[in-house]
Amino acid sequence: MSKQTWVDLAYLVAAICFILALKGLSSPKSARNGNLIGAAGAVIAVVTVLVSADLKHLPLILVAIAAGTAAAVPTSRRVQMTAMPQLVALFNGVGGGAAAIVAFLELKSTGGGFPLIASLFTVVVGSISFSGSVVTFLKLQEVMTTRPVVLPIHPVLFGGAALGAVVLAVVAFAKGGAVDAATYAAVGVAVLALAVGVLFVLPVGGADVPIVISLLNAFTGLTVAASGYVLDNVLLLIAGTLVGASGTILTRLMATAMGRPITSTLFGALRGGSTGGSTTAGADRPVRSATPDDVAILLAYATKVIIVPGYGLAVAQAQHTVRELADLLAARDVEVLYGIHPVAGRMPGHMNVLLAEANVPYDQLKEMDEVNPQFATTDVVLVIGANDVVNPAARQPGTPISGMPILDVDQAQNVIFLKRSMRPGFAGIDNELLYQPNTTLLFGDAKDSLTKVVSALKNL
Ligand code: NDP
Repeated sequence: MSKQTWVDLAYLVAAICFILALKGLSSPKSARNGNLIGAAGAVIAVVTVLVSADLKHLPLILVAIAAGTAAAVPTSRRVQMTAMPQLVALFNGVGGGAAAIVAFLELKSTGGGFPLIASLFTVVVGSISFSGSVVTFLKLQEVMTTRPVVLPIHPVLFGGAALGAVVLAVVAFAKGGAVDAATYAAVGVAVLALAVGVLFVLPVGGADVPIVISLLNAFTGLTVAASGYVLDNVLLLIAGTLVGASGTILTRLMATAMGRPITSTLFGALRGGSTGGSTTAGADRPVRSATPDDVAILLAYATKVIIVPGYGLAVAQAQHTVRELADLLAARDVEVLYGIHPVAGRMPGHMNVLLAEANVPYDQLKEMDEVNPQFATTDVVLVIGANDVVNPAARQPGTPISGMPILDVDQAQNVIFLKRSMRPGFAGIDNELLYQPNTTLLFGDAKDSLTKVVSALKNL
């Protein structure tokens, strides 16, 4: 067999690994294996390139791989589950930036025509993906404000930068990519595209930022696919297309779960409408609070309890304690279900993954449409570190979460919130439900509170 046939076969195996990885990642049960299969595909791809290509700077390439690995491995190992979106944003930005740099360096060797268009496209979209991802990282890490930032004449700046990038790209194309004028134009394209990325993400409010990460991820996929075309590498083309397609599907799913079209998520603040992340001050009104013993009694004598987990459960890492509580209640013949909102937490499937870690039986996890009709016949709803996903403000117009379907916990006989303070959720708006007569608050870290409720329950 010729060398090229071996290379093609290796690429085919890697491509199959990537497709199987996506299949595995579609369920928490198979996600670990999916991840490993994807990583194996990436190793096959890198090794194939290293042994088959005529590389002029192999030592430098190995140093770059070592440096990247040394930076990425400890970061990935240390990262908290709740900080995963920031990490994804950062890694995604690096991918887009790398694709843009490769395309820039390849401009002169494309020889014009469609490959040059693909290179310029990669410079534009890769740069947008890089700078946009950096801003999403800064927002999610709360290094900068999570509120929408709208600059004076923002739409003009945004439109001007986007138009300028396109015009310079046309100039670079007309000059054929081979002369200095084209290189200068391409530098201009990159700078303006970086500005577009920043201006694109600045007006997006905190709660919507994860959707933008997914969209930028799709952009990076497109740039990788275009790089595959420019470099005549089929595997890059396949991998990029998979990332682009899955990122687009995920973006649509998340926007649908938030109950808003993607255009309103991205450009709502520019039009003067409200988007996630704006803030209203918490009202200084009386609330009813309880002790862990009170909560244990209420739970012990209930017939049906629904647990609604949210972002705070992940922060407190209380998934195992929740499971212990549910087991104790089940032993007392209390029916226990979990109400799972599609955007609870900070990434799609966050609650499913968290509860799967504690081996919560899958049949107890009920999706929103299935669980909503059940709240009216429920004695106690335990809202653990969730806020926006149960906030009735979503049913009124003009709030940052208007239109988002919520879990109808207010229909239950008793609602118990486990949270540390009266601070609002990620969307930054007050929750009227906290002040209702059938609502009780158990203040404290969710894991501490649950541990106390569990020990009180054991003593009953
Ligand atoms: P929220 O951010 O609305 O609320 C989290 C709650 O947890 C807060 O009330 C907070 O209150 C509490 N909390 C935080 N830490 C702890 C702790 N250690 N112990 C106890 N309580 C704690 O979370 P939700 O899950 O309800 O909503 C998710 C938000 O993310 C929504 O706005 C959604 O739109 C957004 N989003 C999610 C996406 C996804 O894919 N999952 C995608 C896009 C957006 P306190 O500080 O007082 O403790």
